[in-house]
Amino acid sequence: MTTDVTVVGGGISGLACARAIRDAGRSVRVLDRGRRVGGRLSSRTIDGRPVDLGASYFVVGEAEGFGHVVAEWEERGLARPWTDTFQVVDADGVQTPKHGPMRWAAPAGLRSLALDLAEGLDITAARVVERVEPFRVDGEEAGEVVLAMPAPQAARLTGEAPGGAQEWEPVIAVVLRWDERQWEADLHGAFADGDPDVSFVADDGDRRGDGAPVLVVHTTADRARRHLDDPDAAIAPVLTAVRRLLRIGVDPVATYAHRWTFARPAQATGRPFFRSPGLSACGDAWGDSAAVRTAWSSGDALGRALAAS
Ligand SMILES: Cc1cc2nc3c(=O)[nH]c(=O)nc-3n(C[C@H](O)[C@H](O)[C@H](O)COP(=O)(O)OP(=O)(O)OC[C@H]3O[C@@H](n4cnc5c(N)ncnc54)[C@H](O)[C@@H]3O)c2cc1C
Repeated sequence: MTTDVTVVGGGISGLACARAIRDAGRSVRVLDRGRRVGGRLSSRTIDGRPVDLGASYFVVGEAEGFGHVVAEWEERGLARPWTDTFQVVDADGVQTPKHGPMRWAAPAGLRSLALDLAEGLDITAARVVERVEPFRVDGEEAGEVVLAMPAPQAARLTGEAPGGAQEWEPVIAVVLRWDERQWEADLHGAFADGDPDVSFVADDGDRRGDGAPVLVVHTTADRARRHLDDPDAAIAPVLTAVRRLLRIGVDPVATYAHRWTFARPAQATGRPFFRSPGLSACGDAWGDSAAVRTAWSSGDALGRALAAS
């Protein structure tokens, strides 16, 4: 017997979708090409500790369902409120605090939250799907198929992205580790105002709560485009920019670069998900602004819609 739904993509949108389907009593399986689920909720162990390389944090927002999930994570110690204040740093390194909504982080890294959502689901990891048609995955019957991934990745499987083509922007994440903290104690994270190379710097030890002297820097899309073939080449210009912006006098003891070819959609679609018979799509482009909460809400909404049909 085939499953009711096959979700291709085990990021937070695919997992939220699968949970909604399972909770409604339907059968569902998730296929992901990664060794572990999580997608852009990505924590990689570097020098013995997890570092968040994808999403920097998440905001709970208005979505009531996501609010419940986060409240439960907090209760179980999986998620923690991080900060509502970042700095905006200008070209001369002058910092101005900027207040906003509470940003949340995860002590064990954001991927731990995806792993939690995956508990009890039928997941096949390390499965690279190559071809998707309505009701079929790699030529086999698959029930309703959901593509829960960036549209350009979906387009590789279907010929054209469900719901239409979307433009996506790249980011290179650069991890910089020092032996000791080199920046001010009240710096949680910083937006680099107008910098050509750096868009955001996060203090990974601060957000995770272990105080490790590690920064994760996200490049601008322009800087990333120049290094998609060789992400390590982004380290030198990024380091120069960060040392200038945060007035750091010494080089880090370790560096690491990770490429996100499809980090964020240039524009969100404004619609909650895409649905057509046998082939649907969800993810962070489906909503008002590309973010973790949008991806969860999109997957959850699509899962409910499929389960109800
Ligand atoms: C650098 C960066 C910074 C970010 N910062 C923030 C932030 O601060 N706050 C915030 O809210 N959001 C942030 N985001 C966005 C956030 O990470 C995403 O909105 C969210 O994680 C998207 O989840 P998703 O499930 O839609 O997609 P993804 O997490 O991309 O999941 C797609 C999944 O599909 C799988 N897949 C793809 N192709 C195949 C295939 N052929 N076969 C099988 N599996 C496949 C992938 O392995 C992946 O697991 C950031 C993202 C990046 C990259």
